[in-house]
Amino acid sequence: MIVIIGNGISGVTTARHIRKNSDEEIMIISSESKYFFSRTALMYIFMGHMTFEHTQPYEPHFWKKNRIQLSKEYIEKIDTENKSLYTKSGKTISYDKLVLATGSKPNKFGWKGQDADGVRGLYSKQDLDYIEERAPNIKKAVIVGGGLIGIEMAEMFLSRNIEVDFLIREPLFWNGVLPDEDSKFIMNHLSKHHGLNMYYSTELDEILTDANDKVVGIKTKDSQDIECQFVGLTAGVSPNIDFVKESGIDCQKGILVNTFFETSAKDVYAIGDCAQFKEPIPGRRALEQVWYTGKIMGEQLAQTLTGNRTEYNPGYWFNSAKFMEIEYQTYGTVLNKLQENQEEFIYKHPKEAILLHFVFEKDSRKFIGINNFGLRLRHPVFNHWLLKKATIDEVLQDLKTANFDPEFYTKYENEIITQFNQQFGTSLKVNKKTWWQKLIKA
Ligand SMILES: Cc1cc2nc3c(=O)[nH]c(=O)nc-3n(C[C@H](O)[C@H](O)[C@H](O)COP(=O)(O)OP(=O)(O)OC[C@H]3O[C@@H](n4cnc5c(N)ncnc54)[C@H](O)[C@@H]3O)c2cc1C
Repeated sequence: MIVIIGNGISGVTTARHIRKNSDEEIMIISSESKYFFSRTALMYIFMGHMTFEHTQPYEPHFWKKNRIQLSKEYIEKIDTENKSLYTKSGKTISYDKLVLATGSKPNKFGWKGQDADGVRGLYSKQDLDYIEERAPNIKKAVIVGGGLIGIEMAEMFLSRNIEVDFLIREPLFWNGVLPDEDSKFIMNHLSKHHGLNMYYSTELDEILTDANDKVVGIKTKDSQDIECQFVGLTAGVSPNIDFVKESGIDCQKGILVNTFFETSAKDVYAIGDCAQFKEPIPGRRALEQVWYTGKIMGEQLAQTLTGNRTEYNPGYWFNSAKFMEIEYQTYGTVLNKLQENQEEFIYKHPKEAILLHFVFEKDSRKFIGINNFGLRLRHPVFNHWLLKKATIDEVLQDLKTANFDPEFYTKYENEIITQFNQQFGTSLKVNKKTWWQKLIKA
């Protein structure tokens, strides 16, 4: 039997793809929920856009039909010698092959008061329930740590007219990932939100509590006191692997794997947020904690588990998210600082909240990546350009093809290319034809 711990996107994709290729017995174990749900949609439940059931991509009968056993248990220990798992409820489960897809947990950095009533991250369904239960009594929330989950939490509270004070340790927003211009663009957008108070270069010192260990406020390192009824911890996540470490499988920040997802223990694999590559693929990180990489890892590990040993090949980097109303997509590699032999072109709309940040090679003009804020650009088109090593000139002349709505886009294409021509002394012209339909068919 193949046992998978974790019913997130990584574990569930593995199970689905094993079933496509084989009749192996499969069991998925999770302590969080019986059925797989979309973690990225948690905020929309709070905001009333969907119910929890709506976040479950598969109907309950899907699992029976595909002969995938589901077990709601918490695994406390792995015995890799005897190939056994021990649950908190006292059961023993045997496996032939084991997949660890245990995800992440919110970071806590030892702050005084971090475990008090009213302090929580946003990762699990239980976190959401916890916040929901307290929301009616929250007038002000303090959010600590400015990344994508922090922004989501802020949007959730603002949707219920709860004031948010958002503490960011760095002077610029998400600047470990975004280049300065992009961070400033987002900061400008955030500054316009009523009820959202941004505190940059501000660190949490301690969380203040009452006699019942309930949150009443926080103190910052520069001695500001802020009264609040909730503290959201969103200073990043780290692999959820304490029980794996105790079971003697080699771990650092995550569970150490090679590019075939093999751990130090025989027949034990790790994928998704909890895995750490011993030697990352060039240009990629050792830990990849995003939805689509978990999905790709699941698909590729299923190949190995059904007899076709397959090495991790994630293709070009991409990601998407939202900063309040602004859609964000990134394709290829845009690092927060330009690398040697790289050039950048930034288009910022004078009035609307649109910024496109292109990076390309100085010598060859090869297109390397884009950060897109405010438009919706097609992933397959950018993937095509990255694969065929298109130049920045080709990308700009054909940019219309990448837009979801080329009619609407005519508004921007001339402006973008004119600005590029002025800045780089070129005389590029917009191609009138679009061709993405052909690409999708191919
Ligand atoms: C609020 C939020 C918004 C996000 N938005 C985006 C986004 O817009 N784009 C994007 O790319 N990524 C986003 N992410 C990140 C993305 O959701 C994760 O990268 C992805 O869900 C990780 O999937 P996974 O399958 O590796 O792990 P998980 O989804 O974390 O699943 C692991 C499961 O294993 C269970 N488990 C762990 N240990 C045990 C144990 N010992 N016994 C039993 N069960 C156990 C856990 O309870 C959990 O259910 C977001 C994350 C959050 C929290």
